[in-house]
Amino acid sequence: GGAVTFENIVFGYDSDRTILNGVSFAVGAGETLAIVGPSGAGKSTIARLLYRFYDPQGGRILIDGQDIKAVTQKSLRAEIGIVPQDTVLFNDSIGYNIAYGRADASIEEIAAAATGAAIDGFIAILPQGYETEVGERGLKLSGGEKQRVAIARTLLKNPPILILDEATSALDSRTEAAIQDTLERIAARRTTLVIAHRLSTVTGADRIIVLERGRVVETGTHDQLLEMR
Ligand code: ADP
Ligand code: ADP
Repeated sequence: GGAVTFENIVFGYDSDRTILNGVSFAVGAGETLAIVGPSGAGKSTIARLLYRFYDPQGGRILIDGQDIKAVTQKSLRAEIGIVPQDTVLFNDSIGYNIAYGRADASIEEIAAAATGAAIDGFIAILPQGYETEVGERGLKLSGGEKQRVAIARTLLKNPPILILDEATSALDSRTEAAIQDTLERIAARRTTLVIAHRLSTVTGADRIIVLERGRVVETGTHDQLLEMR
């Protein structure tokens, strides 16, 4: 499962300003859809609606053909994992930060999520052990290490639907390339929505939609969109 459909979604945070103006798209189970567009276009808003932080004023959102309003918030959120742009870390160990909210997680599960062992052989997501203290706001970790903790935390949930919201945009290009490679392998296993500014970073997506001022202005593969420009 994990097919996601947005049908003519209209949404504004306030009644005086519409952020999404009839957005429609569909992503099949196991596919990767990239949502590309300038800052403020409404990309993150799409992720927030799928997670039901907010409900749209118009249109329907479906997962595997079922309106997300018809499922409990708990089961909806169990299906979706979001790797955010900036991760908030607790002043505790890497292991705690990964397993937060999962008091039942075993050390083996944490280690597996931390190393990616459960996902794809032994992708070394974390360079350090899960007992390492991260310090205040994760100060003892580099940006790349913090992002790896965020990714491992999301993977422990093993969600069928994964949202990468500019998950590597805060990193230097070498770290970004390394983590992107890991993300692409993880994305290959599940339905993935990749949110990005630049077309150049989403070459691996099955389909790309370009969002501008709350409207889908272009849809296609990476090659098709390059040809149009
Ligand atoms: P993107 O992810 O494409 O940069 P967003 O979806 O974050 O865009 O934001 C789209 C628009 O909605 C922006 O103009 C932003 O200022 C506005 N916006 C985002 N969050 C809120 C909010 N909580 N309340 C009011 N306006 C918001
Ligand atoms: P920005 O919009 O600031 O340029 P990026 O495009 O660099 O941000 O990053 C957007 C996110 O999408 C990152 O987490 C990146 O690793 C991820 N990403 C890009 N391409 C793919 C892909 N084919 N599969 C999975 N994740 C991807």
